[in-house]
Amino acid sequence: MAKTQRILVIDDDPDVGMLIQEAAKANGNDCIVTTDADSFFKAFTPEVTLIFLDLMIPGLDGVEILRQLGRKRCVAGVVLMSGIGKRVMESANSLAMSLGLYMVGHLAKPFRIADLEKLIGGYVDPEPQSSVGQGAEIYFEGADLWRAVERNEFVLHYQPQIEIKTGRVVGVEGLVRWQHPGQGIVLPGRFIESVEDLGLIDQLTLLVFHHGLSELDLFGRSDEGPLTLSLNISALSLQNLDFPNRFVGLVEAYGHEPSNMILEINESGLIRQLSRTLDVLTRLRMKHVQLSIDDFGIGYSMMDQLRNVPATEIKIDKSIVQNMHNDNSRVIIQKTIELGHDLGMRVTAEGVETQDQLNFLRAQHCDIVQGYLFSEPLSSARLLEWMAQYRPSRISSGH
Ligand code: C2E
Ligand code: CA
Ligand code: CA
Repeated sequence: MAKTQRILVIDDDPDVGMLIQEAAKANGNDCIVTTDADSFFKAFTPEVTLIFLDLMIPGLDGVEILRQLGRKRCVAGVVLMSGIGKRVMESANSLAMSLGLYMVGHLAKPFRIADLEKLIGGYVDPEPQSSVGQGAEIYFEGADLWRAVERNEFVLHYQPQIEIKTGRVVGVEGLVRWQHPGQGIVLPGRFIESVEDLGLIDQLTLLVFHHGLSELDLFGRSDEGPLTLSLNISALSLQNLDFPNRFVGLVEAYGHEPSNMILEINESGLIRQLSRTLDVLTRLRMKHVQLSIDDFGIGYSMMDQLRNVPATEIKIDKSIVQNMHNDNSRVIIQKTIELGHDLGMRVTAEGVETQDQLNFLRAQHCDIVQGYLFSEPLSSARLLEWMAQYRPSRISSGH
């Protein structure tokens, strides 16, 4: 017997609400129906396990509701409903996934009761995972973050990057974690934005750089040379004209080549700040630092704008990779890889979790993959253990 669901519906059509409520109750679930955003968010409590959301509500933007659910770190499953056609629904679905929402399915209106019941009956609460739903407390006080930066309570975890063609580990991405004195390891989704708002991001970036640069030698070299180190950087840090000199100075002080460093900047931040950061990006490239456009595919940039960015890599966002069963996502992946290669960039896919995803990416000539299929981000000690047992043949012979 399936677990009782606490269902929350928002639809401007009360008949649809009633229909869902009846189906829900017939199967022993709780269901609250709302017709506007205010009452929806009043009824949106942590006990809600499943949400039915009408994308098209007059005078209200279903996408904005998705964004707010994302900001509130909603862990309930979400079902989108609409009569506007598959493509729009699939785009909304991709957007919702990129916001960290757990998408359970679509209902194209008019829908059949049987499909509705399948969604309600077949839905199983997700295990709390990654940054979404981690801990009850979401926000940190500014004072906590000041202290954390002052005492350097941050560490880096590393995720291996694998070249599809050879199966070799060619680099690692460093991802920051906060070793919170009371809460243990806290993921960046819970503090990066606040750190930016507090004006502390440059300090945090510097701590992260020191960590990564001091640990890189531990991981040794591949047959082709030293591993690359990818580090994430907020577009805000790129407004400082001094940044290229300071960064390269630091890299050299640790005895590394700037050309082995890859700075990852997310697509939307990059495009928003492009005019202000273009000279910094160009200077970094002139000093041979590599640049990666992170989270590609979920931002709003036209692929055309990409031509203006002196990047060396595109990183396809995990929400697109994981949405591969969707036609739109497959097209985005194909086009991104084509365009990246046309522009002389390497293309990396993040969030690769299944052999099927890997096989599709290989067939599309994607260069590098990263994801739980190989390894989650690990502390430097655990990454070393992982590397010692990793066998390239495991990936090169996908079926
Ligand atoms: P990102 O750069 O897009 O990093 C990828 C995120 O996906 C990481 O989350 C990683 O742990 C997770 N991930 C990797 N493989 C898989 C997979 O197969 N499946 C799934 N579901 N997830 C996977 P994480 O570590 O929580 O980092 C979140 C974001 O925080 C990063 O997204 C990046 O934008 C930001 N971030 C991390 N470190 C730094 C940093 O040092 N500075 C700045 N400014 N931002 C950082
Ligand atoms: Ca990244
Ligand atoms: Ca991403």
